[in-house]
Amino acid sequence: MSRSSRYDILFEPVKIGPVTAPNRFYCTPHALGTGNQMPHTRAAMREVRAEGGWGVINTGYCSIHPSSDDAPLPYCRLWDDEDIKVHAMMVDAVHRHGSLAGVELWHGGSGTGNRLTRMPLMSASGVSSDSTYPGWINLARSKPMDKQDIRDLRRWHVDAAVRARSAGFDIVYVYAGMNFGPYQFLLPWLNKRTDEYGGNLQNRTRLMREIIEDMKEAVGEDCAIALRFSTDQLLAIPGENMESEAHEVVSMLSELPDLWDVKSSSWVTETVSARFSEQGAQEPINSFVKPLTTRPVVGVGRFTSPDDMVSQIKRGVLDLIGAARPSIADPFLPNKIDEGREDEIRECIGCNICVSGYHDCVPVRCTQNPTMGEEWRRKWHPERIPAGDPDTRVLVVGAGPAGLECARALGQRGFSVTLAEAREELGGRVTIESALPGLATWARVRDYRTNLMQTMGNVDVYRGSALTAQDVIDFECHHAVIATGAHWTREILNTDGNPSSEISGDSIYTPDDIFAGAEPEGHVVIYDFDHYYMGSCLAELLRSRGNNVTILTPANAVSAWTFMNNELANIRERMIELDVATVFEHYLTGFGHGSAAISSVYRDRTARTIECDSLLIVGVRKGNDELYDALNSDAERIANAGIRSLQSIGDCLVPGAIVHAVYSGHKCARNIDAAGEPESVAWERAQLFPTD
Ligand code: ADP
Ligand code: SF4
Repeated sequence: MSRSSRYDILFEPVKIGPVTAPNRFYCTPHALGTGNQMPHTRAAMREVRAEGGWGVINTGYCSIHPSSDDAPLPYCRLWDDEDIKVHAMMVDAVHRHGSLAGVELWHGGSGTGNRLTRMPLMSASGVSSDSTYPGWINLARSKPMDKQDIRDLRRWHVDAAVRARSAGFDIVYVYAGMNFGPYQFLLPWLNKRTDEYGGNLQNRTRLMREIIEDMKEAVGEDCAIALRFSTDQLLAIPGENMESEAHEVVSMLSELPDLWDVKSSSWVTETVSARFSEQGAQEPINSFVKPLTTRPVVGVGRFTSPDDMVSQIKRGVLDLIGAARPSIADPFLPNKIDEGREDEIRECIGCNICVSGYHDCVPVRCTQNPTMGEEWRRKWHPERIPAGDPDTRVLVVGAGPAGLECARALGQRGFSVTLAEAREELGGRVTIESALPGLATWARVRDYRTNLMQTMGNVDVYRGSALTAQDVIDFECHHAVIATGAHWTREILNTDGNPSSEISGDSIYTPDDIFAGAEPEGHVVIYDFDHYYMGSCLAELLRSRGNNVTILTPANAVSAWTFMNNELANIRERMIELDVATVFEHYLTGFGHGSAAISSVYRDRTARTIECDSLLIVGVRKGNDELYDALNSDAERIANAGIRSLQSIGDCLVPGAIVHAVYSGHKCARNIDAAGEPESVAWERAQLFPTD
């Protein structure tokens, strides 16, 4: 297959100062969760995207000096020459595939923590940017930068740029966004200076200009100098001569940087999940830049559709299609378009599980792409997989995300695969959950896999086939994989917060009951101690049906875990918009006679009631492991049937998020013919630094 001519424009080279990007696919800087501590993992995670056709690959935020330390979050650094070799490893990996490598040099100013280095935070005039997240609130304020500090900051940028060039980088960033470094000088509420760096916009822009000029002078002949610039806050400030201060900054600096990388001012508003934003949602904050400069402009928008990418370019919004999440979900997205295989793109579903990986300080993981983060450690490639024996028959029971991924990957390996699903529709929980408000994109987890399996002659799919243990025995397979999912229980917590017994009675529901068509009456209390999306999604659904809804939770927020994937504030806002009542920090102790009995999580255990008609418990899930247990309890029967291995995977094995199910299915397919216990299959643990 070959590329459709309508996508030719995406493959045009783009000159960026002294270097040229081979095409318009641009991996914008984004954290990978590896920092400098995992150089091999990081290099492999970046390399795979260069191999997959992304023309430019950037690092995540890279500190230029110990006075900008974001520990414990995993950032990378170029503090001294010792740090060069770690970066050179990634640069070499990217260059092997003809792509350009960029580094996002970063000084956090007062927007970081310096928790490890314990150096004073610095800011334009001692006014620190604040955080509403408890874990990120900084007890130390910042010191106003004096002239020496400003000279130092400029020098550190230059020193780091010179090191970046030694590492082989083609593009070097000045980061003026997200409350970091020179961006703090731009904002009038953070910059109260009365010298030539404060006051009017020209003065507030001075530091940014100086840093760009310094870096151009130092490395500008060899490296492109990119400016990463947040626009939304300045767009809201009317300019003296133009529509806004953002317009004025861009027109003042217009041709100075070799590339404009335009973004939003907070990670939460930039990396919004699909539940709360559409593809291309950044256009209102970045489309004004291109008319004000001849330099190339890059921006993001969770673009997975090549037609939308073409439209961005033809309409003059962007020159380069920036991506973080779409390149995580499919490192080979550009090559697939180039080869006319756009139906095979593994489209990002916008769930933001990748974001949670970074917050967890571990290599970013992805719901759609189970190989993400495992490229070096387990040697998993997103597109290639070792061949298996075509005469080996594998039966997979259950076509949720675990079973689908397992069957797809086994099919790709060439095994003879049968996938049996009890229901008429494939997809298990993703089919069910994608019907919830805001989760439509989650069906992509199913569609990507079913589309590919349709093209495989060695994978048979049976719908409407609920298998029994005897069916599995009679099937005469060599390997049986049980992916029968999990169910929600009516279990509640006791007043110590430990799991207790199930609660029974009329008008008590679980999410499974709602999925099966139950319609709770009147005022519904949703008792949520699952803490992820389900409680708030069901609240939305019930509000749309006209129920009054109260979310009751032992946590101090709705969907408390979603701090980790940047959804917390959006969920809260949605609940307020929908007039969903909330009762935080309480356990449910009983339900009946028109009320729910609750008790404070704190020592006094104050008890009270909430008047309501129905109770929906979003708490504990348990694996549907009856089939697995029935088979596993009779080893002789299994052996006599010629079954060499029996495994349970996904939610049946351990209930979790969809990312866990997909990963479990993939791992099973990779290791099915490996000797020994599945978990014993070797993986690299050491993260040795490259030697000189
Ligand atoms: P996971 O997230 O682990 O993939 P899901 O709950 O999404 O789990 O999917 C499990 C699938 O298994 C569901 O589609 C369910 O209909 C199917 N299933 C459960 N029991 C059987 C069975 N005995 N035979 C065939 N399919 C089954
Ligand atoms: Fe997209 Fe979710 Fe993967 Fe992140 S984890 S890249 S949001 S599919």
